[in-house]
Amino acid sequence: MLRTHTCGELRIDNTGQRVELSGWVQRIRDKGGMIWIDLRDRYGITQLIFQEGETNTEVISKVREMGREFVIKAKGEVKERFSKNDKIPTGDVEVFVDEIEILNSSKVPPFTIEDDTDGGEELRMKYRYLDLRRNIVRNNLVLRHKLAQAVRRYLDSQEFIEVETPVLIKSTPEGARDFVVPSRMNPGEFYALPQSPQTFKQLLMVSGYDRYFQIVKCFRDEDLRADRQPEFTQIDCEMAFVEQEDILNTFEGMTKFLFKEVKGIEVEDFKRMPYSEAMKFYGSDKPDIRFDMKFIELNDVAQNKGFKVFDDAELVVGIVAIGCGDYSRKQVDELTKWVQRPQIGAKGLVYVKYNEDGTFKSSVDKFFDHDALQAWAEKMGAEKGDLMLVLSGDTDVVRKQLCELRLEMGKRLGLRDNSVFAPLWVVDFPLLEWDEESGRYHAMHHPFTSPKPEDISKLDTDPGAVRANAYDLVINGVEIGGGSIRIHDQVTQSLMFDHLGFTKEEAKKQFGFLMEAFEYGAPPHGGIAFGFDRLCALFGGAESIRDFIAFPKNNSGRDVMIDSPATIDQSQLEELNLKIEKQEE
Ligand code: ASP
Repeated sequence: MLRTHTCGELRIDNTGQRVELSGWVQRIRDKGGMIWIDLRDRYGITQLIFQEGETNTEVISKVREMGREFVIKAKGEVKERFSKNDKIPTGDVEVFVDEIEILNSSKVPPFTIEDDTDGGEELRMKYRYLDLRRNIVRNNLVLRHKLAQAVRRYLDSQEFIEVETPVLIKSTPEGARDFVVPSRMNPGEFYALPQSPQTFKQLLMVSGYDRYFQIVKCFRDEDLRADRQPEFTQIDCEMAFVEQEDILNTFEGMTKFLFKEVKGIEVEDFKRMPYSEAMKFYGSDKPDIRFDMKFIELNDVAQNKGFKVFDDAELVVGIVAIGCGDYSRKQVDELTKWVQRPQIGAKGLVYVKYNEDGTFKSSVDKFFDHDALQAWAEKMGAEKGDLMLVLSGDTDVVRKQLCELRLEMGKRLGLRDNSVFAPLWVVDFPLLEWDEESGRYHAMHHPFTSPKPEDISKLDTDPGAVRANAYDLVINGVEIGGGSIRIHDQVTQSLMFDHLGFTKEEAKKQFGFLMEAFEYGAPPHGGIAFGFDRLCALFGGAESIRDFIAFPKNNSGRDVMIDSPATIDQSQLEELNLKIEKQEE
């Protein structure tokens, strides 16, 4: 080995020892008589010291050839430092170097390899291998590693086995577009990359592998956001001979284990909330329950008082911002503008300040007198000093808007603390979801999800009201995982395909293999998949999953480091029987 110790290892007890270190030059300070180098590797930084007159001149002149990010090997004696640095674990000592070797030189890096770097995102992504040298980024990847190890430990202890499933497959519907791969050996035919290993894990249940998991790449061609990448990682799991309750318990157990192992936190039993409640009280199927600020519906106290905006609305609904009754006119105007931004799209915002002296000041004083506003306050549980914020409109739309406002107010009031974790199971999702564009129902989760037996009779009469055995794990407003109890008999599965508008032929062509498998003794089964990148970001207290992926893609799905996607040679195209027709701009 080219070292006796790492750069994070030496302590006061090592003084007097002769050691050899290898690493990258983080910084050189040359004060003439004395030269210091901060030598860095994955484990930390150790100070090397050279002294004119004491250190061999050949060594000194070599040091003067070096620059940032040179790779060097240094030998010398560990000494106690004169001025100690209590910010780093090796800060009590330094190595007085008498032999040095340059293992490799380095060009001047395009940005400084420091936590507080001067490099912009685009530049750092282009030189991601340098960005990955930074502590901050490395710590994220170490966290990811720790989480993956802990997941494996837990699932192994519960008799799960890790099985790999293929990447070149056929479409698995998870609601996004497929990435496809042309087949050279089968001209004109394409593989699809898995949006998830859904069908394979179900087949494994048919095969009797009753507890499966896989930490697996999935591919979805959809518009990107901070918490989406075209390829991402799932902790994909499936169990046989279980009911919903068993899955929730098993994976609540896993999540608690991860918090304990990786963050040293004991989390309480997870709350549970039906989807309908989540929508009614938080306007979202992934409510952030770190804070309360529930929606309160006001139709009965706010309508028929001559205020047309409310009278015409399907829903009048509000929240209470505790202690914000002293908001200035400017602040309320700014909030109003905030909800009117195109991203939120509200027409306006009604506010009621509940003054400390018991009076009210509102934007609708013309229509609502003191008593009327008092009735609002009572209904909303608002107290003196609070601010009531009310929106109105079509139910689905207004709930979405108020959800955004609630999150924003939560943020402004410091109620969304990243060191607090509030896990929640959202259960009883609808089985189907109406899609305006295609004018028909889609599977809300995926077509293999089972309806609640007591709701099956409504499939023909009121499909939108059928609930599914489907659940999501939501933590701090982020959907961390989702799954369902599956259909395991051919008859129900085929009924489901009918309701989703598949013809018998289409269903057979796409999923014939699964339906056939169900005819050979498929056990009752169900599962869940966790978004592993999101889980890492959540544990790391960050929002962007990109920071937790070694080589992520940018917002247009490009890897700017390797410059992909890229065109391919004509000969490759011919081999694949492909012809490119560029669409006119
Ligand atoms: N395959 C599903 C998904 O990717 C998860 C599951 O149902 O287990 O969301």
